[in-house]
Amino acid sequence: MGESLFRRKCCREPVCKICCKADETIEHCLLLCDWAKKLWFGSSIGIMINERNICRFDNWLWMMLGEGRKGNDFQKALLASICWSIWKGRCNVIYQDMVLEPKKILRNATNLVNEFWVAKGWIKERVLPSFNREGSVWKTPNHGCTKVNIDGSFLSKTGKAGIGIIFRNNNGDLLKFVAEQAKSTSAFMSEALAPRKALDLIKLSGNGTYLIESDCEALVKTTTYVSFGFISRSCNKAADWLAVSGSKGVCLEGCSAQPPPSLAKLLLEDKVRCATTCNVGPCQIRTGIG
Ligand SMILES: [Zn+2]
Repeated sequence: MGESLFRRKCCREPVCKICCKADETIEHCLLLCDWAKKLWFGSSIGIMINERNICRFDNWLWMMLGEGRKGNDFQKALLASICWSIWKGRCNVIYQDMVLEPKKILRNATNLVNEFWVAKGWIKERVLPSFNREGSVWKTPNHGCTKVNIDGSFLSKTGKAGIGIIFRNNNGDLLKFVAEQAKSTSAFMSEALAPRKALDLIKLSGNGTYLIESDCEALVKTTTYVSFGFISRSCNKAADWLAVSGSKGVCLEGCSAQPPPSLAKLLLEDKVRCATTCNVGPCQIRTGIG
């Protein structure tokens, strides 16, 4: 670490050789450096690194891995693998003059754990989720287009149903959302009611280009809308949240001003993940020796 080398008078300055913004401590290298923070958040374990909560790396690690902590063994192994891969990635940049590729580093970290799980015979094939791949993140629409995520919810125990609809622009900003109860007798019917409502809202919104996205593949396949796309459930959390609210009788309607906090959190997650996976490119590297 540059910081301890500096204390031992083995290097001229302790500053991080990647971001040049802070001293190169173990906490900074593995958690707090800008690209590392994004990588942690963009990983399947989605850890939001908050500078204020981190004073020592070993304390943080204990907090994440210690007895009785949440998370299964795969997630814990992935956490360790990400630490190792970030360290290796840094060394490659600083000592091998390689380009920093956070996406590749994250992919390698996941592959390492997958390979270990396969070698141990804990899984037969590599069917474990490969996170942050194309399609596992909500994406902003093209410029000038409004993305309309829709979802239906059906609670078979109670027979209650709801739909959720959310409009966002090409910056990922919220434009409009609706959650309402629906009359339905099946999950598919609830899903199918969502586009009808979405089209009503589009009609009211006026001209423009809209892309409707649903996580119900059967619905998308049986529909002939132009630009009616399928996305995975994990990318449709905001609309799902609204649909579930609607099915519980919590009817909401609003615009960008003040979405409910739970919805605001999901919208922010979409935005950050989209920015992380779509825009994390090679960083500007200052060359130097540690
Ligand atoms: Zn840094």
